[in-house]
Amino acid sequence: MTRHWSVLFALGVVGLLPSSAASSHDSDDHSRFDTLVALFKQSEVVGEPKIVGCTLSGGTETTCLSITTVAAPTNHTTGPFCPDTIKDTAEQGGTWIKDGAVYDVDGQFIENLATFYDDDQWQMYDPATGEVTRVEGRQGCEVAGDPTSADRYENTCVECELQYMSSEVTQTYVIPLKPVVAKERSERIGPHSGIGLALNGVKFDAPAPLHLILGGHTLGPFDDCGGHINPHSGYHYHGVAGCSPEVASKVEGHAGIIGLAMDGFLIHSRLNSDGKEPDDLDACRGHDTDGVGYHYHVSGPGQNQITGCFRGETGCSLNNPDEICNASVRRGPPGPPRP
Ligand SMILES: [Zn+2]
Ligand SMILES: [Zn+2]
Repeated sequence: MTRHWSVLFALGVVGLLPSSAASSHDSDDHSRFDTLVALFKQSEVVGEPKIVGCTLSGGTETTCLSITTVAAPTNHTTGPFCPDTIKDTAEQGGTWIKDGAVYDVDGQFIENLATFYDDDQWQMYDPATGEVTRVEGRQGCEVAGDPTSADRYENTCVECELQYMSSEVTQTYVIPLKPVVAKERSERIGPHSGIGLALNGVKFDAPAPLHLILGGHTLGPFDDCGGHINPHSGYHYHGVAGCSPEVASKVEGHAGIIGLAMDGFLIHSRLNSDGKEPDDLDACRGHDTDGVGYHYHVSGPGQNQITGCFRGETGCSLNNPDEICNASVRRGPPGPPRP
């Protein structure tokens, strides 16, 4: 925390912060901070989580949790993603999604792509050998980081594994300790904001840009856990397939907690213990229940949309742990959407 404030003083902007944020944090902040940090004990946390001053997407200046994690799951392996040949089984490939459903990317799936998408231009394997056309290794990570390059890799299965990235990716999440309900409308989920942080330190990411990926007749398969890898976010989830750790809800029978959203509300799994999704979810897939307060429930794994929108003002997910979060100026997309 000290470093952040000294940067603020050096910039001469500390006067812009509310006095409550610039002075000592209140005890509510500390107890909420401790509660949230305890949720992430299954993550690989880098350094110490801290309380920092932050500016949320709606311009509110407040105090945030800042926590940095290694962008890789601590409780499961990653991959496989692309099968080697059209003879490969479901265990040798990952998954893909279409119209809300999840499909195994096995050899037969690759063989049938033209039928699946009703488009003769799909041909992702060598008809003579049955070998799947893939871009992998370091090059795969480069392509995974820039989906606009997909048209140069027409009809390839794109795969990035953690060991081929030039360095270990960490992400810093700056999330309000007390959620601030957005004033005018629910906040849209932007391509770079992410949705939140899973309890194993992995990002719940914004929807994958399927139009860019499919437009170039490429696939960037997810593994069976609904995640894949790019150099910006490391390993990240686009769907919740039940692989991330869960903490029981305080309310018996209610779906457990699986993460923290970028607006500070908790993310719960999809189904309550009766096997049903709550029937009173709003457009953001949230609701307010006794004993839990407002929280989200994730959607099914094939939706490419983990939650619907944000009810609260969001903080920041950052590649630089020392960057000060001002989410109110991060509106414009600084680059293409990332797969
Ligand atoms: Zn609920
Ligand atoms: Zn992705």
